[in-house]
Amino acid sequence: MSFKKTISILGSTGSIGSNTVDVINSNKKKFSVFSLSSKNNVNLLCKQALLLKPKIVAIQNKKRYKDLRNNLFGKKIKILAGDEGVIECTDNKVEIVVASIVGIAGLKPTLNSIENCSKLCLANKECLVSAGSFFMKKISKSKCKLLPLDSEHNAIFQLCDFNKSNNVESITLTASGGPFRNYNLQKLKKATLTNALKHPNWKMGSKITIDSATLMNKAFEIIEAYYLFNLKLSQINVVVHPESIIHSMVNFADGSTTALLSSHDMRIPIFYALNWPSREYYNIKKIDLLKIKTLTFEKINTHLMDSINLAYYVLKKGGSYPLIFNTANEVAVSYFLKEKINFLDILKIIKKILSKSENYKINTVNDIYSIDKKIRILTKEYIMNR
Ligand code: MN
Repeated sequence: MSFKKTISILGSTGSIGSNTVDVINSNKKKFSVFSLSSKNNVNLLCKQALLLKPKIVAIQNKKRYKDLRNNLFGKKIKILAGDEGVIECTDNKVEIVVASIVGIAGLKPTLNSIENCSKLCLANKECLVSAGSFFMKKISKSKCKLLPLDSEHNAIFQLCDFNKSNNVESITLTASGGPFRNYNLQKLKKATLTNALKHPNWKMGSKITIDSATLMNKAFEIIEAYYLFNLKLSQINVVVHPESIIHSMVNFADGSTTALLSSHDMRIPIFYALNWPSREYYNIKKIDLLKIKTLTFEKINTHLMDSINLAYYVLKKGGSYPLIFNTANEVAVSYFLKEKINFLDILKIIKKILSKSENYKINTVNDIYSIDKKIRILTKEYIMNR
């Protein structure tokens, strides 16, 4: 007889996915893995499969299917490939799905999970940033409980139950400020890819690390918070907190503010989410305030403030604007990662694309994919012909 909770991990070889595997591996008595999926990384996916013995593994890139099949030969694991394969990973009922695919590719499998799991631990930002109202409607119509894994939103989830009338006045998202926190305009103009990839606190994938440098990551987190907690724009604040010990705060109407503190290790919010609603013992390094000594707070670097302002702008505009905002950024960042554009070009390109686009209607999930495709082409054309 087993009382283990069954888990599927969408995107198990990325940063959040690997951290989740680590959490599960050190808590094998509590959890068992049903399915794992990855975009390309056959080697790590095989290692994870041998470690956690899932029923199904899927590789999104069909070209890597043979490799995966050969590596797992005779292991009694069903092997799938392609977008359909990744979606099939979520066709069976499981207790928990960890949705950590990066990008718009995560949308369909995550939407499919809503129907088939009782708890969805969400790390994919696009579900909320590109498809926020669409996604939240699906959640509210389902029996699935949504738990954010993004550290800031996970903190706010821990601090407050928004379903109760708690008289929340506002929330404060903390931002590390990224590697260019103190850069002036002259230095930002010369910022290189190598500089931008050096995040002071968090070790993450390259796309999100660039988003931290431009503060676009925080802009997306404003959008995430708006949809997750059903807040007004005026209720969402951002403050720079370079130590990344406070992960966010909730400000109540009576003058009290609560904050969530922990070391910057993603395994802590992941462990919390997997165990929710209970809190369990976790053998992990806890914070030592006497070692930390000081927590500091600053205003956002004015030269990067436009990213934050754009988040409020696209939310005010609504409709497809947050989606366009996200897609234009994704394309611009991919060019910056290839060193084809300068650091400050990223934001200029996004602004231009927002001003060139109309507000498209979103009724179905396919609308989201087709607008995304349209904006991708538009942004690439704009960059090439600049
Ligand atoms: Mn975050």
